[in-house]
Amino acid sequence: MMRYCVRCVMPDTKPDLYLDSEGVCSACRSFEHRKSVDWQDRRKQLIGILGRYRSKDDPCWDCIIPVSGGKDSTYQVVQMLQLGMNPLCVTATTCDLSDIGRKNIENIKNLGVDYVEFTTNRCVRRKLNRLGLVQVGDISWPEHVAIFTIPVRAAVQFGVPLIVWGENSQNEYGGPAAASGNNCLDRRWLEEFGGLLGMRVSDLIELAVIEKKHLIPFTYPDDESLKRVGVTGIFLGHYLPWDGYSNALLAQAHGFTTYHQTVEGSLVNYENLDNYQTGIHDYFKFLKLGFSRATDLACLHIRRGRITRQDALELVKKHDGKFPWNYLGKSLSDILEPLELSVEEFIQICDRFTNKKLFQRDAQGCLIKDKQGNLTKLLYDNAVSQVGR
Ligand SMILES: [Zn+2]
Repeated sequence: MMRYCVRCVMPDTKPDLYLDSEGVCSACRSFEHRKSVDWQDRRKQLIGILGRYRSKDDPCWDCIIPVSGGKDSTYQVVQMLQLGMNPLCVTATTCDLSDIGRKNIENIKNLGVDYVEFTTNRCVRRKLNRLGLVQVGDISWPEHVAIFTIPVRAAVQFGVPLIVWGENSQNEYGGPAAASGNNCLDRRWLEEFGGLLGMRVSDLIELAVIEKKHLIPFTYPDDESLKRVGVTGIFLGHYLPWDGYSNALLAQAHGFTTYHQTVEGSLVNYENLDNYQTGIHDYFKFLKLGFSRATDLACLHIRRGRITRQDALELVKKHDGKFPWNYLGKSLSDILEPLELSVEEFIQICDRFTNKKLFQRDAQGCLIKDKQGNLTKLLYDNAVSQVGR
């Protein structure tokens, strides 16, 4: 049975999430722990690390900042500039870059940084999107690989050792540059936090689906190259208190554009604005795990005391897991067109990846959908009954 955290609205179907004996999830516990962090001290540590990596004799960039153009990467760039760094910003272009995403990339370029935008072969990318969707139910598979591999490749190519990542949602530590001993970033470390989600790049080569030469941007540099440059990384979220909402406000002060309305399937207008395929990605998370972006956001806001758990449940019920007919104003059929998939084929793939135990079915066991194709999730009532337990 699906259980929910008694403090936030996260269900235990989330991978790597644990509910303790009091019914509180590990994410809530980890947020609780943040209250005891000495942020002044963390900031000092950060300044120390940056000082060690700042370019001295030969002029070179001080660090690589992987940027999507989103609110968090705008925040990262502004912070690094304010701390006196000369960064090289690197963008791995999203699978289906939106107009507003383009606008926000151009905005970062105007902040006063050198900037590299790396766009992988679009024909290969489309094949990978289709393969990801059909094989593992994740259209964004190539994007999730490339956002980790391309900045690391850039670090090797341009000879810049320090990579300044944003938030580390998986682990509570500062990154390899913070470690006193072995602080080099190796393949194992990369693979640990850049999860490849059930399909590996080597599988594609073995299956001979895609030629090896077309997968260069999706593979990490070899360990020897990483060692030669001394590539390492930190997570800014370990050193500066991280909050998506305040990052968005800061980003807007520096020219970042939000969407003109709440993003489809979301609760807010300031994130996931750069890829038209994100609506599909998030919907598959809902089909597999019974929660999606609205739940993630509601939990962040509950933990920061902005809404009650009861109100969050209402918001989640209203917004989470709606069939993705549109995303950022682009229609599903237009989004699927480059993948050579029709809406009908898409719905069949959806049904194949739906966890049937989580949704209402008829007497024959078929999924019940409303006129808009939306499923009804079971067990919300169960979540409500856990309040105050
Ligand atoms: Zn929780």
